[in-house]
Amino acid sequence: MAEFALIETIRRRCAHVRDDVVLGIGDDAAVLAVPPDLELVVCTDTLVAGVHFPLETSAADIGWKSLAVNLSDLAAMGATPAWALLALTLPTADTGFVAGFADGFAALAAEHGVSLIGGDTTSGPLTITVTVHGLIPKGQALRRNGARAGDAVLVSGTLGDAAAALRYRNGADGMSVQSRASLQARLDRPQPRVTLGILLRDFASSCIDISDGLLADLGHVAAASGIGIEIDASRLPASPALLDQVPAEQRPALQLAGGDDYELAFTVAPERIPMLQQAVARESMQITHLGRAVAGSGVRALDSEGRPLDPPRSGWEHFA
Ligand code: ADP
Ligand code: MG
Repeated sequence: MAEFALIETIRRRCAHVRDDVVLGIGDDAAVLAVPPDLELVVCTDTLVAGVHFPLETSAADIGWKSLAVNLSDLAAMGATPAWALLALTLPTADTGFVAGFADGFAALAAEHGVSLIGGDTTSGPLTITVTVHGLIPKGQALRRNGARAGDAVLVSGTLGDAAAALRYRNGADGMSVQSRASLQARLDRPQPRVTLGILLRDFASSCIDISDGLLADLGHVAAASGIGIEIDASRLPASPALLDQVPAEQRPALQLAGGDDYELAFTVAPERIPMLQQAVARESMQITHLGRAVAGSGVRALDSEGRPLDPPRSGWEHFA
Protein backbone atom coordinates (compact mmCIF):
# COMPACT_ATOMS: atom_id res chain seq x y z
CA MET A 1 0.00 0.00 0.00
CA ALA A 2 1.23 3.48 -0.90
CA GLU A 3 0.84 4.67 2.71
CA PHE A 4 3.35 2.15 4.02
CA ALA A 5 5.83 2.81 1.20
CA LEU A 6 5.70 6.52 2.13
CA ILE A 7 6.24 5.75 5.82
CA GLU A 8 9.21 3.58 4.89
CA THR A 9 10.63 6.42 2.77
CA ILE A 10 10.44 8.70 5.81
CA ARG A 11 11.79 6.12 8.26
CA ARG A 12 14.84 5.35 6.11
CA ARG A 13 15.77 9.02 5.82
CA CYS A 14 15.23 9.81 9.49
CA ALA A 15 17.47 7.01 10.71
CA HIS A 16 18.88 8.79 13.75
CA VAL A 17 17.67 6.84 16.80
CA ARG A 18 18.46 7.90 20.36
CA ASP A 19 19.29 5.43 23.13
CA ASP A 20 16.18 6.50 25.02
CA VAL A 21 13.84 5.33 22.22
CA VAL A 22 12.71 1.93 23.51
CA LEU A 23 10.39 1.46 20.52
CA GLY A 24 10.21 3.80 17.50
CA ILE A 25 8.38 3.82 14.15
CA GLY A 26 6.53 0.60 13.28
CA ASP A 27 4.29 -0.33 16.18
CA ASP A 28 0.99 1.18 17.37
CA ALA A 29 2.85 3.69 19.53
CA ALA A 30 6.38 4.65 20.52
CA VAL A 31 7.90 3.82 23.91
CA LEU A 32 10.37 6.30 25.43
CA ALA A 33 12.59 6.20 28.50
CA VAL A 34 12.08 9.46 30.42
CA PRO A 35 14.82 10.19 33.00
CA PRO A 36 13.26 10.46 36.49
CA ASP A 37 14.91 13.78 37.38
CA LEU A 38 13.73 15.64 34.27
CA GLU A 39 10.42 17.13 33.15
CA LEU A 40 8.93 16.48 29.72
CA VAL A 41 8.18 19.61 27.63
CA VAL A 42 5.74 19.02 24.73
CA CYS A 43 4.30 21.18 21.96
CA THR A 44 2.80 20.91 18.48
CA ASP A 45 2.45 23.20 15.46
CA THR A 46 0.70 22.77 12.12
CA LEU A 47 1.87 24.14 8.76
CA VAL A 48 -0.81 24.55 6.07
CA ALA A 49 0.33 24.95 2.45
CA GLY A 50 -0.28 28.49 1.21
CA VAL A 51 -0.83 29.79 4.76
CA HIS A 52 2.39 28.99 6.61
CA PHE A 53 4.61 28.66 3.55
CA PRO A 54 4.26 29.82 -0.08
CA LEU A 55 3.07 27.07 -2.43
CA GLU A 56 6.36 27.19 -4.36
CA THR A 57 8.43 26.26 -1.27
CA SER A 58 10.61 23.19 -1.90
CA ALA A 59 9.79 19.88 -0.21
CA ALA A 60 13.08 19.92 1.72
CA ASP A 61 12.46 23.45 3.01
CA ILE A 62 8.94 22.49 4.14
CA GLY A 63 10.41 19.50 5.99
CA TRP A 64 13.02 21.67 7.68
CA LYS A 65 10.56 24.39 8.61
CA SER A 66 7.91 22.05 10.02
CA LEU A 67 10.44 20.82 12.58
CA ALA A 68 12.12 24.22 13.06
CA VAL A 69 8.96 26.04 14.19
CA ASN A 70 8.41 23.34 16.81
CA LEU A 71 12.02 23.32 18.03
CA SER A 72 11.69 27.10 18.34
CA ASP A 73 8.85 26.60 20.85
CA LEU A 74 11.00 24.16 22.84
CA ALA A 75 13.87 26.67 22.72
CA ALA A 76 11.56 29.33 24.16
CA MET A 77 10.92 27.01 27.13
CA GLY A 78 14.64 26.33 27.61
CA ALA A 79 14.14 22.64 26.83
CA THR A 80 16.59 20.22 25.18
CA PRO A 81 14.83 18.58 22.19
CA ALA A 82 14.55 14.79 22.13
CA TRP A 83 11.73 13.24 20.08
CA ALA A 84 9.32 14.20 17.28
CA LEU A 85 6.05 12.91 15.81
CA LEU A 86 5.04 13.76 12.23
CA ALA A 87 1.43 13.84 11.00
CA LEU A 88 1.56 14.31 7.25
CA THR A 89 -1.49 14.97 5.06
CA LEU A 90 -0.64 14.74 1.34
CA PRO A 91 -2.74 15.43 -1.78
CA THR A 92 -1.07 12.48 -3.60
CA ALA A 93 1.29 9.61 -2.76
CA ASP A 94 4.22 11.60 -4.19
CA THR A 95 7.36 9.69 -3.19
CA GLY A 96 9.65 12.39 -4.58
CA PHE A 97 8.00 15.04 -2.43
CA VAL A 98 8.08 12.82 0.66
CA ALA A 99 11.77 11.95 0.12
CA GLY A 100 12.69 15.63 -0.19
CA PHE A 101 10.54 16.54 2.79
CA ALA A 102 12.14 13.81 4.93
CA ASP A 103 15.66 14.92 3.90
CA GLY A 104 14.97 18.50 5.03
CA PHE A 105 13.35 17.30 8.25
CA ALA A 106 16.23 14.88 8.94
CA ALA A 107 18.91 17.54 8.34
CA LEU A 108 17.57 19.71 11.17
CA ALA A 109 16.71 16.72 13.39
CA ALA A 110 20.34 15.54 13.13
CA GLU A 111 21.64 19.00 14.14
CA HIS A 112 19.66 18.76 17.37
CA GLY A 113 19.84 15.03 18.10
CA VAL A 114 16.10 14.57 17.60
CA SER A 115 14.62 11.13 16.83
CA LEU A 116 11.49 10.81 14.71
CA ILE A 117 9.50 8.22 16.70
CA GLY A 118 6.21 7.99 14.77
CA GLY A 119 3.38 9.83 13.13
CA ASP A 120 0.45 9.44 10.81
CA THR A 121 0.08 9.61 7.02
CA THR A 122 -3.23 10.60 5.44
CA SER A 123 -4.52 12.01 2.17
CA GLY A 124 -5.94 15.51 1.83
CA PRO A 125 -4.73 19.10 1.28
CA LEU A 126 -0.99 19.45 2.07
CA THR A 127 -0.79 19.94 5.85
CA ILE A 128 1.99 19.04 8.26
CA THR A 129 1.65 18.71 12.01
CA VAL A 130 4.79 18.06 14.03
CA THR A 131 4.81 17.35 17.76
CA VAL A 132 8.10 17.63 19.62
CA HIS A 133 9.15 16.51 23.07
CA GLY A 134 11.99 18.02 25.03
CA LEU A 135 13.54 17.52 28.45
CA ILE A 136 14.40 20.01 31.17
CA PRO A 137 15.54 19.80 34.83
CA LYS A 138 12.56 20.00 37.18
CA GLY A 139 11.13 23.48 37.64
CA GLN A 140 13.49 25.20 35.18
CA ALA A 141 11.18 25.76 32.18
CA LEU A 142 11.12 29.40 31.00
CA ARG A 143 7.62 30.85 31.05
CA ARG A 144 5.88 33.91 29.68
CA ASN A 145 4.67 35.08 33.06
CA GLY A 146 7.94 35.79 34.90
CA ALA A 147 8.82 39.30 33.68
CA ARG A 148 8.98 42.05 36.33
CA ALA A 149 8.88 45.83 35.95
CA GLY A 150 12.52 46.95 35.72
CA ASP A 151 13.68 43.88 33.76
CA ALA A 152 15.53 44.47 30.50
CA VAL A 153 13.96 43.15 27.27
CA LEU A 154 16.31 41.44 24.81
CA VAL A 155 16.05 39.62 21.51
CA SER A 156 18.31 37.13 19.74
CA GLY A 157 19.69 37.43 16.20
CA THR A 158 18.11 39.87 13.76
CA LEU A 159 14.49 40.65 12.89
CA GLY A 160 12.51 41.22 9.72
CA ASP A 161 14.36 39.06 7.18
CA ALA A 162 11.66 36.44 6.68
CA ALA A 163 8.99 39.12 6.34
CA ALA A 164 11.18 40.95 3.80
CA ALA A 165 11.57 37.73 1.79
CA LEU A 166 7.78 37.39 1.62
CA ARG A 167 7.22 41.05 0.81
CA TYR A 168 9.83 41.08 -1.97
CA ARG A 169 9.06 37.60 -3.22
CA ASN A 170 10.23 38.36 -6.71
CA GLY A 171 13.04 40.66 -5.57
CA ALA A 172 12.76 44.42 -5.20
CA ASP A 173 14.22 46.76 -7.80
CA GLY A 174 17.99 46.50 -7.62
CA MET A 175 18.03 43.78 -4.96
CA SER A 176 21.19 41.68 -5.30
CA VAL A 177 20.81 37.95 -5.89
CA GLN A 178 22.90 37.30 -2.78
CA SER A 179 20.79 39.46 -0.45
CA ARG A 180 17.60 38.02 -1.90
CA ALA A 181 18.93 34.48 -1.19
CA SER A 182 19.94 35.32 2.36
CA LEU A 183 16.51 36.80 3.15
CA GLN A 184 14.83 33.77 1.54
CA ALA A 185 16.92 31.40 3.68
CA ARG A 186 15.61 33.08 6.82
CA LEU A 187 12.04 32.39 5.63
CA ASP A 188 12.59 28.82 4.43
CA ARG A 189 15.18 27.52 6.89
CA PRO A 190 14.73 29.22 10.25
CA GLN A 191 17.36 28.28 12.86
CA PRO A 192 15.66 27.49 16.16
CA ARG A 193 17.64 29.09 19.02
CA VAL A 194 17.91 25.91 21.05
CA THR A 195 21.39 26.56 22.51
CA LEU A 196 20.41 30.05 23.59
CA GLY A 197 17.18 28.79 25.22
CA ILE A 198 19.15 26.29 27.29
CA LEU A 199 21.62 29.00 28.35
CA LEU A 200 18.74 31.34 29.28
CA ARG A 201 17.51 28.88 31.96
CA ASP A 202 20.12 30.53 34.21
CA PHE A 203 19.30 34.12 33.26
CA ALA A 204 15.83 34.86 31.89
CA SER A 205 12.76 35.77 33.95
CA SER A 206 10.52 35.12 30.91
CA CYS A 207 10.93 33.99 27.32
CA ILE A 208 8.92 33.58 24.11
CA ASP A 209 9.80 32.77 20.52
CA ILE A 210 8.86 35.26 17.80
CA SER A 211 6.56 33.62 15.29
CA ASP A 212 3.78 36.19 14.85
CA GLY A 213 5.90 39.37 15.13
CA LEU A 214 7.90 41.01 17.95
CA LEU A 215 5.10 43.31 19.17
CA ALA A 216 2.41 40.62 19.10
CA ASP A 217 4.57 38.06 20.86
CA LEU A 218 5.88 40.49 23.49
CA GLY A 219 2.21 41.35 24.02
CA HIS A 220 1.73 37.78 25.30
CA VAL A 221 4.63 38.23 27.74
CA ALA A 222 3.25 41.57 28.94
CA ALA A 223 -0.25 40.14 29.47
CA ALA A 224 0.96 36.94 31.19
CA SER A 225 3.38 38.85 33.44
CA GLY A 226 1.05 41.76 34.25
CA ILE A 227 3.51 44.41 33.03
CA GLY A 228 3.99 46.84 30.13
CA ILE A 229 6.89 46.73 27.66
CA GLU A 230 8.68 49.60 25.89
CA ILE A 231 10.85 48.90 22.86
CA ASP A 232 13.40 51.33 21.39
CA ALA A 233 12.75 50.94 17.66
CA SER A 234 16.17 52.46 16.89
CA ARG A 235 17.82 49.40 18.52
CA LEU A 236 15.97 46.75 16.46
CA PRO A 237 18.68 44.36 15.19
CA ALA A 238 18.83 44.09 11.38
CA SER A 239 20.84 41.77 9.13
CA PRO A 240 23.27 43.18 6.53
CA ALA A 241 20.85 42.03 3.79
CA LEU A 242 17.92 43.90 5.34
CA LEU A 243 20.02 47.05 5.82
CA ASP A 244 21.31 46.86 2.23
CA GLN A 245 18.10 46.03 0.45
CA VAL A 246 15.14 47.45 2.35
CA PRO A 247 14.67 51.23 2.65
CA ALA A 248 15.01 52.48 6.25
CA GLU A 249 11.40 53.65 6.49
CA GLN A 250 10.08 50.18 5.59
CA ARG A 251 12.20 48.23 8.08
CA PRO A 252 10.39 48.88 11.39
CA ALA A 253 7.10 47.40 10.14
CA LEU A 254 8.87 44.23 9.00
CA GLN A 255 10.91 43.98 12.20
CA LEU A 256 8.10 44.78 14.65
CA ALA A 257 5.18 42.98 13.04
CA GLY A 258 6.44 40.84 10.15
CA GLY A 259 6.71 37.54 11.99
CA ASP A 260 8.33 34.22 11.03
CA ASP A 261 11.56 35.35 12.75
CA TYR A 262 11.89 32.40 15.15
CA GLU A 263 14.21 34.40 17.35
CA LEU A 264 13.82 34.45 21.15
CA ALA A 265 12.54 37.51 23.03
CA PHE A 266 13.23 37.41 26.76
CA THR A 267 13.54 39.45 29.93
CA VAL A 268 16.52 39.58 32.28
CA ALA A 269 17.25 41.51 35.48
CA PRO A 270 19.51 44.37 34.25
CA GLU A 271 22.40 43.53 36.64
CA ARG A 272 22.67 40.06 35.04
CA ILE A 273 23.18 41.34 31.47
CA PRO A 274 27.02 41.55 31.60
CA MET A 275 27.31 37.89 32.64
CA LEU A 276 24.74 36.87 30.04
CA GLN A 277 26.62 38.81 27.33
CA GLN A 278 29.82 36.93 28.23
CA ALA A 279 28.08 33.55 28.08
CA VAL A 280 26.47 34.42 24.75
CA ALA A 281 29.77 35.68 23.26
CA ARG A 282 31.46 32.37 24.17
CA GLU A 283 28.86 30.60 22.01
CA SER A 284 29.20 33.23 19.21
CA MET A 285 25.53 34.13 19.46
CA GLN A 286 24.03 37.58 19.11
CA ILE A 287 21.58 39.22 21.50
CA THR A 288 20.36 42.83 21.61
CA HIS A 289 19.07 44.79 24.58
CA LEU A 290 16.18 46.71 23.05
CA GLY A 291 13.75 47.67 25.75
CA ARG A 292 12.39 47.37 29.26
CA ALA A 293 9.50 46.04 31.27
CA VAL A 294 7.56 48.79 33.03
CA ALA A 295 4.56 49.04 35.34
CA GLY A 296 1.33 49.03 33.34
CA SER A 297 0.22 46.97 30.35
CA GLY A 298 0.66 46.62 26.59
CA VAL A 299 3.68 46.98 24.30
CA ARG A 300 4.87 50.30 22.85
CA ALA A 301 7.59 50.90 20.26
CA LEU A 302 9.33 54.27 20.68
CA ASP A 303 11.45 56.19 18.17
CA SER A 304 14.89 57.63 19.01
CA GLU A 305 13.25 60.68 20.64
CA GLY A 306 11.02 58.48 22.81
CA ARG A 307 7.85 59.18 20.77
CA PRO A 308 5.47 56.24 20.18
CA LEU A 309 5.58 54.70 16.68
CA ASP A 310 2.36 53.69 14.98
CA PRO A 311 2.85 50.11 13.85
CA PRO A 312 0.80 49.15 10.78
CA ARG A 313 -0.54 45.95 12.34
CA SER A 314 0.40 43.94 15.37
CA GLY A 315 1.13 40.54 13.87
CA TRP A 316 -0.31 37.55 12.13
CA GLU A 317 -3.60 36.15 13.45
CA HIS A 318 -5.58 33.26 12.04
CA PHE A 319 -9.30 33.98 11.62
CA ALA A 320 -8.55 37.75 11.82
P1 ADP B 1 -1.95 2.81 13.12
O1 ADP B 1 -2.86 2.44 11.99
O2 ADP B 1 -1.78 1.76 14.18
O3 ADP B 1 -2.21 4.17 13.67
P2 ADP B 1 -0.10 3.60 11.09
O4 ADP B 1 -0.32 2.62 10.00
O5 ADP B 1 -0.73 4.94 11.00
O6 ADP B 1 -0.46 2.88 12.47
O7 ADP B 1 1.46 3.82 11.29
C1 ADP B 1 2.38 2.74 11.30
C2 ADP B 1 3.65 3.18 11.97
O8 ADP B 1 4.26 4.17 11.19
C3 ADP B 1 3.43 3.79 13.35
O9 ADP B 1 4.52 3.44 14.18
C4 ADP B 1 3.42 5.26 13.09
O10 ADP B 1 3.86 5.99 14.21
C5 ADP B 1 4.40 5.37 11.92
N1 ADP B 1 4.10 6.51 11.02
C6 ADP B 1 2.99 6.70 10.28
N2 ADP B 1 3.07 7.84 9.55
C7 ADP B 1 4.27 8.39 9.85
C8 ADP B 1 4.94 9.56 9.47
N3 ADP B 1 4.41 10.44 8.60
N4 ADP B 1 6.15 9.81 10.00
C9 ADP B 1 6.70 8.95 10.89
N5 ADP B 1 6.14 7.82 11.29
C10 ADP B 1 4.92 7.53 10.79
MG1 MG C 1 -2.71 5.77 11.76
